[in-house]
Amino acid sequence: MRVREHGADSMTKFVFVTGGVSSSLGKGLTASSLGRLLKSRGLKVTMCKLDPYINVDPGTMNPGEHGEVFVTDDGGETDLDLGHYERFIDESLSRMSNTTTGAIYSSVIAKERRGDYLGKTVQVIPHVTDEIKERLRRLSSVGADVVIVEIGGTVGDIEIVPFIEAIRQYRRDAGRDNVCYVHLTLVPYLAPSGEQKTKPTQHSVTELRSRGIQPDVIVCRSDQPISDSLKRKISLLCDVQISAVISAVDAPSIYDIPMTLHHEGLDTIVCQTLGIDLAEHPIDLRAWEEVVRRVHSSTQHVRIGVIGKYVTMPDAYLSVGEAIRHAGFAVGVKTDIEWLEAERVPGEIDADRLRGLDGIIVPGGFGERGFEGMIAAAKISRDFGIPYLGICLGMQVMVIEFARDVLGLSDANSTEMSTTTSSPVIALMAEQMEVTDMGGTMRLGACPAMLKAGSVVAELYGATVVSERHRHRYEFNSRYTEQFEDAGMMCSGASPDGRLIEFVEIPEHPFFVGTQAHPEFKSRPDRPHPLFYGLIKAAAARAEGRTPHIIDVETASSTH
Ligand code: GLN
Repeated sequence: MRVREHGADSMTKFVFVTGGVSSSLGKGLTASSLGRLLKSRGLKVTMCKLDPYINVDPGTMNPGEHGEVFVTDDGGETDLDLGHYERFIDESLSRMSNTTTGAIYSSVIAKERRGDYLGKTVQVIPHVTDEIKERLRRLSSVGADVVIVEIGGTVGDIEIVPFIEAIRQYRRDAGRDNVCYVHLTLVPYLAPSGEQKTKPTQHSVTELRSRGIQPDVIVCRSDQPISDSLKRKISLLCDVQISAVISAVDAPSIYDIPMTLHHEGLDTIVCQTLGIDLAEHPIDLRAWEEVVRRVHSSTQHVRIGVIGKYVTMPDAYLSVGEAIRHAGFAVGVKTDIEWLEAERVPGEIDADRLRGLDGIIVPGGFGERGFEGMIAAAKISRDFGIPYLGICLGMQVMVIEFARDVLGLSDANSTEMSTTTSSPVIALMAEQMEVTDMGGTMRLGACPAMLKAGSVVAELYGATVVSERHRHRYEFNSRYTEQFEDAGMMCSGASPDGRLIEFVEIPEHPFFVGTQAHPEFKSRPDRPHPLFYGLIKAAAARAEGRTPHIIDVETASSTH
């Protein structure tokens, strides 16, 4: 790597992204966009999120409150920002890329119990901060030129202090030129005075400085561009170069953000701070420009209904939404997503309403609420030929609906929803397994599957061996395989030992496909996931009024 040949700077470089003033300013997207820009300069980039909450990982957190749990290949249950990272830098991350206060403390306490601290008093400084720094150092071992670390929360939060202290020390440990601090703030526009205000930024930087960190770059979020004179003011008051004051104005889509930040010079100032030679690393943004062009070029609208439990919090299905959009970019249509609450199906949201959709997705989920509504939606999709993609719980739903309606097993169910069902078509992997630790009983992370040649899924993937990420406890009960296949639902993919059914489909339907995995985590803006591509292609045909039995095999498989 050229970057590592700068003599003394043989270390991985670190960019720390902190936020001030307010939450939800888009720190994750800013960090991801920077990642994309640095990658477009030929640098190898990896990313990490430090989360100040006490949960050991987000696996047990309510998605309706905290958003989706993003699953990595190695089975890490991580913060949804890792999804943005993967989609923007196009690298698969691991559980190493997400650390919480809970994880840090549980490891420090385990060491203390083992006697590793040799009788010392265990304290936040140095023991907790050392544990944080150790995790950062481990990231240097993955061979990246630059590690971008986003610190969750805002400066001034009580829980964030050990993380800020650890990243402050990190510059001393790694060397000045190996660390860059980027601070994200808000520059509000006050209508009565007709002015943009810099005071919140000044206060936020003062707070950061009180913890010993002087930012190298300030990214200012605002709804209107920041004028040069305002930049001069922020530069003077916060003691950064003018070129280090970056205006991050609201963008029409998240995919525009890397371009906006590049034009503002974010990657240039970060490289300069880290001693990365810009001439040696010219930027090539052609691939991303093509993504942006596709984002804005489609005109035909396709209506996709997502029928789930947490729809009032669309972040609960963040990756599903992104995967739908990515497929839309590739098919060349604009996807209008309708988030529909499963509990309101089929009452308020009736068959007529659902028939007005071009495609339906039932995403993953846990628990009974809304389950029967999802079953009703699957039935309507099957009966009326509406393209349907079932993801994890959404596959279980289509299996149960088929069992009830076609196989005549009227009380068919998942043992998650009914322990007394006489037809447990979905059941625990090992029913005898004692479920005591809620965090430890899931099938998590990447698992291979073998697809049946000639099936819709095999044609879409363009392969018969695939790998997808999982996060579930219940499985298709293979006792029923033959009955389903005889009646027209094909088990089109299974684990290599054949025991676990991974994909089902109805070949006679325009598009009725389910997977026990979570394909949404592997979709990329320029490489949509084949199953989403298949759904959107079928949905676009329905929108145009054609019979959508059309998997355009060649185009589909060449996109992944
Ligand atoms: N609740 C179901 C299970 O545990 C589905 C989980 C999911 O959709 N991620 O198997």
